Amino acid sequence: MRIGIFGGTFDPPHLGHLILAAEAYHQCRLDRLLWVLTPDPPHKPDQKITPLATRLALLHACLADAPEFELSTVDIDRPPPHFALDTVRILREQYPKDELIYLMGSDSLLNLHTWHRPLDFIRACDGFGVTRRSDEHIDLAALDVRLPGLSGKVHFVISMILGISSTEIRARIGSSAPVRYYLHPGVYQLIRAQGLYRSGP
Ligand code: ATP
Repeated sequence: MRIGIFGGTFDPPHLGHLILAAEAYHQCRLDRLLWVLTPDPPHKPDQKITPLATRLALLHACLADAPEFELSTVDIDRPPPHFALDTVRILREQYPKDELIYLMGSDSLLNLHTWHRPLDFIRACDGFGVTRRSDEHIDLAALDVRLPGLSGKVHFVISMILGISSTEIRARIGSSAPVRYYLHPGVYQLIRAQGLYRSGP
């Protein structure tokens, strides 16, 4: 089996996440796709993060009608720090015979050298499904100089370009700009019902 791992803060989950996941599922020929909610992302130390229980409820709402997607609590069930390397190692123990494909946006790919033990992380994954977030050019040869072995494992996931981000959604809610059609209806309803993100990012 080919198992996709889609880690994120999902604060809140938005249509960019769903489209990335759906395209990766199709183009990387995945059999399962695990959405791994990160309780306290190590790479976002300065960001005010919405409580885990709220983000978990938002992610449940987002995935409620998508049987091909599963919510994994692998990072919720273990103490911090929640490095992606450890997430993959735990999933590897659970799925020893399967291929593990880690999904990310191109912004994350370009930042990969700042992640915890990036070379071990690259070795631990069988492949990377990378969606371009903007029309930026990605120089794989340059990435390989910094992180040898990376480029051979990257599979670009083609999708229509989407500028949606959780930061932008939070900012829009904070300034009363429309967000409804950037979100899954269940997520939008929950945000409205609970009055989330009214103070912005
Ligand atoms: P924030 O704006 O708070 O940093 P985010 O929108 O980037 O959040 P995350 O939960 O941090 O959301 O993202 C999880 C993964 O989804 C990351 O790998 C990120 O690159 C990717 N991603 C998020 N939005 C998009 C998008 N519009 N297109 C492609 N990839 C995306």
